[in-house]
Amino acid sequence: MPTSPEKKDRKRVAKWVAKLTPDQWQRYEAGHKKGWIEEEDGAEKTRVVKGACIFHNDEEFPGGYGCALHHLATAEGVSFIETKPEVCWQLPLRRSYDRRKYEDGTEQLVVVLGEYQRRDWGAGGHDFPWYCTANTEAHIGSEPVFVSNRDEIVELIGQPAYDELARLCRARELLLQQKRFDLGLTPHPADPR
Ligand code: SF4
Repeated sequence: MPTSPEKKDRKRVAKWVAKLTPDQWQRYEAGHKKGWIEEEDGAEKTRVVKGACIFHNDEEFPGGYGCALHHLATAEGVSFIETKPEVCWQLPLRRSYDRRKYEDGTEQLVVVLGEYQRRDWGAGGHDFPWYCTANTEAHIGSEPVFVSNRDEIVELIGQPAYDELARLCRARELLLQQKRFDLGLTPHPADPR
């Protein structure tokens, strides 16, 4: 029987969770006593402890603030795509599928890669206080997303599609530098520049 993507994801992450030490993971004990998965609305997710994901280390934790699985990836010299649950490494990117029908009866599957916006979380997404892709403070990177998130994009759409995307993004960058806003090209609305 084929393994479901959810099971495959859990198995992959479990392999890395087993490598986490108490020095790297603040909730090590809680995770080993009661596990790191819980169900919500029939779907599995990482367990919430003290109001946050069980892998989230507090700011004062000596092993490093934030996601223990992200720090583990750095320590092990691998990409965080390997260590984190799929939903985590994909953010803030969103891959969606658009099945288009044409008048001659043919169909085409169009894969759309974009920003995971508040509306994509469902009705409650507009109230998430921690979600920040629309905040100016989140747009301070020195590299464009297609460069800084290259590995995730390649994983989501494959190398040939990424190469074409990169070519188009570079062409777009050039037009933006020339302020060709008449072509409908504008920076992200939260971009401070
Ligand atoms: S990135 Fe995912 S696994 Fe890591 S702390 Fe956040 S929710 Fe948890």
